[in-house]
Amino acid sequence: MPEPCHDLDMSEQHRSLWLEQAYTGSTDAPVLSGGDHADVAIVGGGYLGLWTALLLKEREPSLDVVIIEKDVCGGGASGRNGGFVLSWWPKLATLIKLAGEREAIELAQASEHAITEIEEACQRYHIDAQFKRGGWLWTAATEVQRGAWKPVVELCESLGVAPFTNLSPEEIARRTGSPVHLEGVFEASAATVHPGYLVRGLVRAAQQLGVRIYEHSPMIELDRRRPAVIRTPNGALTADVVVLAVNAHAAGMRELHRKIVAISSDMVSTPPIVDRLEEIGWTGGESISDSQLQVHYYRTTEDGRIAFGKGGWGIALGARMGASFDRDASRAADVTLDFRRLYPALADVPITHDWSGPIDRSPSGIPLFGNLGGRPHILYGAGFSGNGVGPSRLGGRILADLVLGETDGFAGSALVNGKPGSFPPDPIRYVGAHVVRSGVASKERAEAVGKEPSRFATALARLAPAGMIPKKDADGDH
Ligand SMILES: Cc1cc2nc3c(=O)[nH]c(=O)nc-3n(C[C@H](O)[C@H](O)[C@H](O)COP(=O)(O)OP(=O)(O)OC[C@H]3O[C@@H](n4cnc5c(N)ncnc54)[C@H](O)[C@@H]3O)c2cc1C
Repeated sequence: MPEPCHDLDMSEQHRSLWLEQAYTGSTDAPVLSGGDHADVAIVGGGYLGLWTALLLKEREPSLDVVIIEKDVCGGGASGRNGGFVLSWWPKLATLIKLAGEREAIELAQASEHAITEIEEACQRYHIDAQFKRGGWLWTAATEVQRGAWKPVVELCESLGVAPFTNLSPEEIARRTGSPVHLEGVFEASAATVHPGYLVRGLVRAAQQLGVRIYEHSPMIELDRRRPAVIRTPNGALTADVVVLAVNAHAAGMRELHRKIVAISSDMVSTPPIVDRLEEIGWTGGESISDSQLQVHYYRTTEDGRIAFGKGGWGIALGARMGASFDRDASRAADVTLDFRRLYPALADVPITHDWSGPIDRSPSGIPLFGNLGGRPHILYGAGFSGNGVGPSRLGGRILADLVLGETDGFAGSALVNGKPGSFPPDPIRYVGAHVVRSGVASKERAEAVGKEPSRFATALARLAPAGMIPKKDADGDH
């Protein structure tokens, strides 16, 4: 039987700015204790699990849908991200490789439409996620980054689609609020949200539709027979269908180990600095990325803060993500230095929050969906690769379709049970990725200050296997 409601001790784990603001400290979700049964059990209470649950209940209200979450819903990447809601247009070349031209364009269009669907869902369920369609600036902040977007823009043009707008260098410097930005393009469909308000709002919406949620209930074992059984420290949930929506933790499952690498992304944020943002001119709500392999991504918030992040620093052995995946003082100090370099006019602005979180990197940078080990009753979705806030809505639709046996839409696409490639197994990839990453970091540190990187660092950086270090194609991953 479920245990009664409980309060979350916020001191248990380091939290992001977003969760600190959005999580009230208590939850209606019990701990799983004893036995229970569900028609559909979803493991993971992030955006992907919540959208899947919500879409299932909207379409089949009589389905008994249960979410099992090891922490609180939103305790993972969904409560820690940059809040960039991006389309897949920057990934068009990869999508074409995976799915062919026609389907790739349809997937990119659907990912753009997902941004509108999120806005509409927020209105329908009264979620004040601070949705703001400020667009995305894809920029160069060093000489070597110039024109990183050109291949994608030209590909789009050759296929008759035009998601990107060229802006003059002066306009880029003006809109970013910093002359360090040399040039760039603008993608107007992109939005920002407050990640914490979105994820906790989705929890409430799901509960209103009758989704049952267990928090602080880690799945410690999955019995893959039929019916499947999810075991937690205090209970067991039997389910006709299981959906795994566990993000980078998928790297710990034997069937997915070669498909997912768990890496960290790190963020810092300032106090509200509304006057300073007006002084520098960054007032349009644009989200911004530079074009490093270890990408910098930054945005303003409704209360006038800057949230600034950097991707791809920590690499886990399998799914063993230690405390450094929640917070890492030395990486936070480096991210702060990078913020100061990109915004020299804000050198005196303090940093009030820093945090880290897990990224589920896939070989292609595009998520994969399917049946775990070919089992029809166990589904998974993972591999958003640092671009999951918008695409997890589309991913939720794919998983809901798969649960309901509807394969007319993208549940029949190349993203499902496809051939996304493989990473080497651990420990080879763990060691290799560390070596390559140190080369990438050294090369980009030199380039950032206008120095020639060492030949050794450049050679190491060239070894970056596709997908292992984020933003291989400079395509908006965080
Ligand atoms: C610092 C950071 C910045 C990012 N910035 C952006 C951005 O600006 N834009 C963007 O599009 N994407 C961004 N991302 C990626 C984005 O946050 C994710 O792709 C998105 O939230 C996907 O959500 P999810 O549901 O797959 O994962 P999660 O939110 O991580 O949900 C998975 C859940 O599964 C739970 N879980 C795991 N194992 C178990 C288990 N055994 N039992 C029970 N529960 C389990 C976890 O606790 C977690 O809550 C960022 C990620 C990070 C970490």
